[in-house]
Amino acid sequence: MHSFIIQLKNRLKTKKLKGLALDIDDTLAQSGDAWIEGIQKAFGNPENLTVEEVKTKYRYSYNAPYWNSPAIRQWEESIRYNEDWHRVLPLIKNANHIVEKIHRLVPIVAYLTARPKQLLTATRDWLDKHGFPPAEIIYRPAAVRLPNNLAWKAKILEYLYPQVIGMVDDHPQLAKDLSKTYPGTLYLYDYHDQAPRGDINIIPCKNWQEVLESLVPL
Ligand SMILES: [Mg+2]
Repeated sequence: MHSFIIQLKNRLKTKKLKGLALDIDDTLAQSGDAWIEGIQKAFGNPENLTVEEVKTKYRYSYNAPYWNSPAIRQWEESIRYNEDWHRVLPLIKNANHIVEKIHRLVPIVAYLTARPKQLLTATRDWLDKHGFPPAEIIYRPAAVRLPNNLAWKAKILEYLYPQVIGMVDDHPQLAKDLSKTYPGTLYLYDYHDQAPRGDINIIPCKNWQEVLESLVPL
C-alpha cells in the first residue's frame, strides 16, 4: 500500500471520521462526453451517433470497435495528462448540490480517482470551483497501469474500510473487482440494470437523486 494511503487511513482513524469515497470522471465530471466529442472531432464518427447514443451503445468510447487505433490511443494519452482539458470539464448537472446533501448525512472523506498525480492541482481546483466538500484526493500511482485501475480501486476500498464505508463510482468493473468479503457499499452510478452481483452490497443508481435516496446511513 502506498504511504499516502496508509497515512490517510491513520488520519481518518485518529479523527474518528467515517464516510464515503467518490469517483470523479463520469461520476462528478462529464469526462466521457468530452472524451467522445474529442474523438469524434479528431477521428470522425463512422456510425453518425450522438454522444448520448455512443454512451447507450458502448458506455465508454473504447468499447467502440472503430475507436481503437494506435492514433486514438496516442490522442488519449495526450489528453489523459492534460491539465487544461481537466480544468474545464463540465460538471454532471446537480452532482455538486446532491453531494452537498449527502455530505451532511454521510461525510465525503476521499475522492478516489484513476487520474495521475500530475493532475492533482487541476483536480483540486475543479472540485473547489464546483463547491465539492474538501477531502483528500487518492490518485493512481504511476506503478498502477491503467487497465488495472478498477482492481486497484477495489484494493484501496477494502484497505480503507471501515474509515471509508463505501463509494460512488460509475464503472461496473469495480463491482466485479471487489472481493466477496467486502463489507462496504458500492453505489454504481448511472447504472440502469440490476446489480451485476448479489453477494456484496452493490446499489445501482440511475442518477444522483437515487444515490441520495438509497444512502445507507452511518
Ligand atoms: Mg469513473
